Amino acid sequence: MDLHKYIATVPDYPEPGVMFRDISPLMADGDAYRYATDQLVDYARSKNVEMIVGPEARGFIVGCPVAYELGVGFAPARKEGKLPRETVKATYDLEYGQSALYLHKDAIKPGQRVLVTDDLLATGGTISATIKLVEDLGGIVVGTAFIIELKDLNGREKIKDYDIFSLMEY
Ligand code: 5GP
Repeated sequence: MDLHKYIATVPDYPEPGVMFRDISPLMADGDAYRYATDQLVDYARSKNVEMIVGPEARGFIVGCPVAYELGVGFAPARKEGKLPRETVKATYDLEYGQSALYLHKDAIKPGQRVLVTDDLLATGGTISATIKLVEDLGGIVVGTAFIIELKDLNGREKIKDYDIFSLMEY
């Protein structure tokens, strides 16, 4: 199945000059969403994943069905003020300024084999922060998985020490 036809390209969103790749048509189609998830499950299985972590919010859409299928846990990496218990924090650069992601301190057990997931790899800032959170807690990031990889933004270079799996490139 060619998944490209399930991605809507939105010019000048969220700001002029940006071509936004919208995965919602893919999620809206049961067969396409299942097909995409199945590939991610195969990848996760090949890495003997024990836990999945994804950043708010589309990282959940990608990671949760994989966790369900494998029968492993999922921990959400969230923005400021969203997690009720003790957390670890990782900051990352945006085009203007900084942002931060948080993970509950007990989300990962030391030595656990973790897959990090998101819908899209652009500059790699979001996934790098997610990786840092997992590693701060002693987890081993055995892979990173995305629906889409934007080649021009070179995110792959930023996470070159990790295994990268993506279903589509633009
Ligand atoms: P990065 O941190 O790699 O520069 O950007 C990736 C993050 O921004 C992901 O969490 C992703 O959801 C979001 N993002 C950036 N550009 C796009 C885009 O064109 N489409 C979608 N769906 N998400 C994007």
